[in-house]
Amino acid sequence: MNYLSTRGHPDRKRFCDILLEGLAPDGGLYLPERYPQVDADALDHLRSAYNEGRAGGYAALAFEILSLYIDDIPAADLQAICAKTYTAEVFGSDEIVPLRELEDGVYLEALSNGPTLAFKDMAMQLLGNLFEYELGRRGAELNILGATSGDTGSAAEYAMRGKKGVRVFMTSPDGRMSPFQQAQMFSLQDANIHNIAIAGVFDDCQDIVKAVSNDLGFKRKYRIGTVNSINWARLLAQVVYYFAGYFQATGSNNKEVSFTVPSGNFGNVCAGHVARMMGLPIRTLVVATNENDVLDEFFRTGVYRVRSAADTHETSSPSMDISKASNFERFVFDLVGRDADRLRALFETELIRAGRFDMSLDPAFVEASSRFGFRSGRSTHADRLATIRDTDKRFAVLVDTHTADGLKVAREHIEPGVPMVVLETALPIKFAATIVEALGHEPDRPARFEGIEALPKRVVKLPADAEAVKAYIAEHCDE
Ligand SMILES: *Cc1c(COP(=O)(O)O)cnc(C)c1O
Repeated sequence: MNYLSTRGHPDRKRFCDILLEGLAPDGGLYLPERYPQVDADALDHLRSAYNEGRAGGYAALAFEILSLYIDDIPAADLQAICAKTYTAEVFGSDEIVPLRELEDGVYLEALSNGPTLAFKDMAMQLLGNLFEYELGRRGAELNILGATSGDTGSAAEYAMRGKKGVRVFMTSPDGRMSPFQQAQMFSLQDANIHNIAIAGVFDDCQDIVKAVSNDLGFKRKYRIGTVNSINWARLLAQVVYYFAGYFQATGSNNKEVSFTVPSGNFGNVCAGHVARMMGLPIRTLVVATNENDVLDEFFRTGVYRVRSAADTHETSSPSMDISKASNFERFVFDLVGRDADRLRALFETELIRAGRFDMSLDPAFVEASSRFGFRSGRSTHADRLATIRDTDKRFAVLVDTHTADGLKVAREHIEPGVPMVVLETALPIKFAATIVEALGHEPDRPARFEGIEALPKRVVKLPADAEAVKAYIAEHCDE
């Protein structure tokens, strides 16, 4: 399997080459040259792998699906990596992503029982093991530099802690994460994990990461890499749980299922798009946004309009507070028939010139729903509170703020006879303040996080200055 860039670069790459890379050299995103097709027999085989493997079922399913996209890791090694990643010890149950029925035909698929209680663990845990394997094979090292407002940074740190050949330098805005999120990250004592609290806001952290990455000399000398959501391996890992959700929601492979996905950077739902392109019988993919409704606006109107910082709202589902959706280009590439010239006209010319592009009159736009099955909706703080209360009262189930956005939007798209699976992307304890606002009491906290706010903290404070961060990295690279 070869990978290409959405912007038309002539080079083709193998999986392990793009594993350690971010953007393609022409600024595009990597995609497989074609989507491997899963026919009826293959789907039966995958269902058996998941169901009959019991404790190892999810790992077996992951191995089968990843094998379709990765041909430069020996099968036995890839199998061992999957088996080591997807265990009941790490993810809390043999199903790994257990499904529960909330009400007739509406399901929650739990993706947030990993080490940091958000769905990003599903991919990041695999990425940690893939990185360690590939760096070991090459005798190389990598220094991961990132910016986080919460979920990504903790998922990356818990995936990379103690891994050979990898160090993490994670910047975050000083004092702006929830106390629980801060404690999750800063209580890690592993020598290869470095928390850097920046005197500034999240955008300052992102600017620093960009400035350091743009210093090509520094980047090469210190082997700087990233783990952001455009990484193809992360997206690929997420494809697996659409299959696992489908198998749990149906007894046989001739039924269609719809998914609703709380969305920000379009990484999660883009994995659903890939699963559907492979032939998994997904009827609709519902994109749920919060007040930052860049994606809902596109699917309703055909206009993709990037927001300014001033126009990006701080909401109570903060992991979906985005001004642009960094993975969206992958879907648009398929939507325009994989025409890289057309893609470049949209993302390089129009978007840069006007901050928006308009596909409303493009015949391809109707295919977003008719051919690719996309629908969308948006949810507000008041909706979130109402959904959390309603779900607690009627089903005695507590959902987090992002999942609440999903549930609210899912209900607007339910079709009789088609199971609707809502992806649960985090546990409520991560966003406790809003749960208290909705219900008047704190959510339960898993026993392993009891009292973490009181643990010793390992964090250094630096000014919002790329040079200071570079100096810190240089100083800590040989440890
Ligand atoms: C990251 C995140 C999202 C958004 O996922 P995307 O892949 O960026 O669309 C939604 N919910 C939670 C809890 C997250 O951490």
